[in-house]
Amino acid sequence: MTSWICVTCGTQFAPSDRPPAECPICQDERQYIGLHGQRWTTLEELQRSHDNVFRLLEPGLIGIGTTPAFAIGQRALLVRTAEGNLLWDCISLLDRTTVELVRALGGIQAIAISHPHFYASMVEWAHAFDAPVHVHAADSRWVLRPDAALSFWEGDTRELLGGLTVIRTGGHFEGGTVLHWPQGADGAGALLSGDLIMVVPDRRHVSFMYSYPNLIPLGPERVRRVVAAVAPYRFDRIYGAWWERVVERDGKACVERSAARYLAAIGG
Ligand SMILES: [Zn+2]
Ligand SMILES: [Zn+2]
Repeated sequence: MTSWICVTCGTQFAPSDRPPAECPICQDERQYIGLHGQRWTTLEELQRSHDNVFRLLEPGLIGIGTTPAFAIGQRALLVRTAEGNLLWDCISLLDRTTVELVRALGGIQAIAISHPHFYASMVEWAHAFDAPVHVHAADSRWVLRPDAALSFWEGDTRELLGGLTVIRTGGHFEGGTVLHWPQGADGAGALLSGDLIMVVPDRRHVSFMYSYPNLIPLGPERVRRVVAAVAPYRFDRIYGAWWERVVERDGKACVERSAARYLAAIGG
């Protein structure tokens, strides 16, 4: 039995003898089937062909990403708090080096994932570090490797360790969430936003799409809901899902400015 991993989105599936017939996440209109059709790999293959790299992004925040880039290419974020470490979002590759290094940093006490595109190998990480994975219940139908480590939560917010709060924004995915890290940005606060609030290449704006690869915008009501969900929180910096996608400062004004521009563009 093998837990196959979809090459296009990086999602690991429940163990089976043969590769699954299809990947529901890639068949969804927010994703796509790769140019060469549905392809599969395994964790063992990835461990032979890829490595993880670690970058200290600011005190208390370490990015973990895979090189060469794999699938959607996001990097995960290890947030270190006085009460332990939380892994925000996930990547497909977990190897012995990563386990050893992260254990030396104190391990992982909790995992929280923004939305199904970054579920990746979350169950492998949960088992390796004996950590629960917090996933919003509204997206439970996208979980392709069910496991006792998954903790489905409902409602608008969930407080985790060390002052961290997961905030449900909806939008790109109904159960989509972002993480508020009050100690981030030298105490000014940071938002770890996955692609629910997408940091765009100018790093001065964000965007809000139903599908990024297929360029399907979000309607005005949903955009307003995303903005309202993060409005009560203090933050100056926004970490998107990729290495270079970071709004360094003035994050709060950036979200408001970007939403106004977006709503004007779609006539909302
Ligand atoms: Zn897929
Ligand atoms: Zn996404």
